[in-house]
Amino acid sequence: MIQAVIVPPARIGFVGLGKMGQPMARHLARAGYRVLAHDLDAKALARAREEADAEAPGSLRSIAERCDAVITMLPDGHAVRAVSLHAEGLLAGFAPGAVLIDMSSSSPVGTRELGERLAARGVRMIDAPVSGGVRKADDATLAIMVGGEAQTIERCRPVLEAMGKQIFLTGPLGSGHAMKALNNYVSAAGLAAAVEAVLAAARFGLDPGKVVDVLNASTGMNNATLNKFHRFILSRAFDSGFSLDLMVKDLKTALEVAHSSATPAPLAEACVAAWSEAQAALGPGLDHTAVARYWEQLAGTELRKK
Ligand code: NAD
Repeated sequence: MIQAVIVPPARIGFVGLGKMGQPMARHLARAGYRVLAHDLDAKALARAREEADAEAPGSLRSIAERCDAVITMLPDGHAVRAVSLHAEGLLAGFAPGAVLIDMSSSSPVGTRELGERLAARGVRMIDAPVSGGVRKADDATLAIMVGGEAQTIERCRPVLEAMGKQIFLTGPLGSGHAMKALNNYVSAAGLAAAVEAVLAAARFGLDPGKVVDVLNASTGMNNATLNKFHRFILSRAFDSGFSLDLMVKDLKTALEVAHSSATPAPLAEACVAAWSEAQAALGPGLDHTAVARYWEQLAGTELRKK
């Protein structure tokens, strides 16, 4: 049976109204969708009511019963499976043909398992993780990497276009999640390399701010030197909106992708070890740019503009 494309004013469920989910739900509402929201955090839910004019029916099951598609924007794939599969969860309410759109950065292995469980009940799933952080979520210009059956993706395209600017079809279910984790590995490796280089330069007597400016005019430039160093590290603000805990989770997922495809990845191994060590030493709840503080502690040098 061919299912209709999901266009406004369709009802969309939104589970996980955190730093990313909040602005994404707001853009769905602006596009004319009716948002049914769920979050464990009552404050997040109250904000979604205010900013996305969201209804909050209370139970996941009743959201799934009333929606053509439900988006999850949760910390990881464990949470996505929990909200989908528990007795009063999404699967209990989904009608055949409904779609679960997992926009969290989940592990692709778990995504494929969940997709099979849903498919056995006639429910579709696509994975559509995002890149661009809170800033691009705020102005609906996220990059979205989408895995799944082409027909289901086309049904969901208007929903995704309400939140993102570039939509990449990456292949079968799980491929978006694999792509996202590997992207974050490259991003984390770039940030780690930049922090090490700026620390070494500072201890050699150079001005950290000037070092970053030279990198940005040279071949060493990367996303961390361009968009994170001055703004979040040298300023000591450490408030990019993406947590250290989530970055370590993504790095472990990237390594899982390398291992499951028998790909040698010594640099990724080193990167996971270095970031995990920093997370253990600094403690939970920090922004990912605060990782610099751990390498600063090891070096005995704090990075500030001169
Ligand atoms: P967040 O911690 O700000 O938000 C997560 C939300 O999920 C919270 O409101 C929390 O209360 C809710 N939640 C957790 N478990 C739940 C459950 N079982 N049921 C209902 N609600 C639950 O995280 P975030 O920064 O918005 O990230 C969300 C996802 O997006 C993560 O997978 C992350 O890796 C990914 N991501 C984040 C960024 C970023 O810059 N923050 C960028 C790209 C991708």
